[in-house]
Amino acid sequence: MKKLIILLFILICSLTVYAADGVLINAGETEKQEKHVSEIGFRLLNANGIPTRAIFILDNSREINAYCSNFNRSIVICRGIYTRCESDDELAAIIGHEISHSVDSYKGLFRGAISYLNSWVTPRKYEYKADKRAVDYMVNAGYNPVAMIIVMNKNFPQKRYEVFSTHPLSTRRMMEVYEYIYKKYPEYLANNKYRNNPYYQNFLLTSQENRAKFQEKIKTNSTKKIRYK
Ligand SMILES: [Zn+2]
Repeated sequence: MKKLIILLFILICSLTVYAADGVLINAGETEKQEKHVSEIGFRLLNANGIPTRAIFILDNSREINAYCSNFNRSIVICRGIYTRCESDDELAAIIGHEISHSVDSYKGLFRGAISYLNSWVTPRKYEYKADKRAVDYMVNAGYNPVAMIIVMNKNFPQKRYEVFSTHPLSTRRMMEVYEYIYKKYPEYLANNKYRNNPYYQNFLLTSQENRAKFQEKIKTNSTKKIRYK
């Protein structure tokens, strides 16, 4: 009987240690991920000499989303999008886009308190601007901007119409990013390390018509803005 009690005691002790370890492992993993988001965020801020402050939060929401808070300008990355990023390049694309919104939140009256009204009036204009600025931020901080197309193609759904939406159609956003990289940082497409990435391959497949329009524009030296589909 005495032996049985000792055995039970040892068993309970080892289970407790296991459970404590389990919690510690998860907590450690969460801290590592939070640090990961912060480090990429601050690297983007510093490499681009961005003089306005921002902090980065990894939120536990499973939503495939990221945003910049109007209230305190925190940049929030939801775990849903974080876990779907497969490289630092992809995560830098998401964070860089939100940094652009954060920079704009400092502009205008009352320390930028009403700046968000601009993005309410012309939200899609600010989305394109944030995508392009994020490409610059990425390149300056040593990230590969082609990953922006990859992270968009993998995660952003395709609405039928954009007229009631704050965001442009995903196909349009990807083409605008593609065109921007093509013109400003062509080396990333000429020597594309993501050429065989399945999400990039899928972009090539689904953007054939749009890319043909773009090629035509280059061939004819046209400066006309293309309305992508
Ligand atoms: Zn945005």
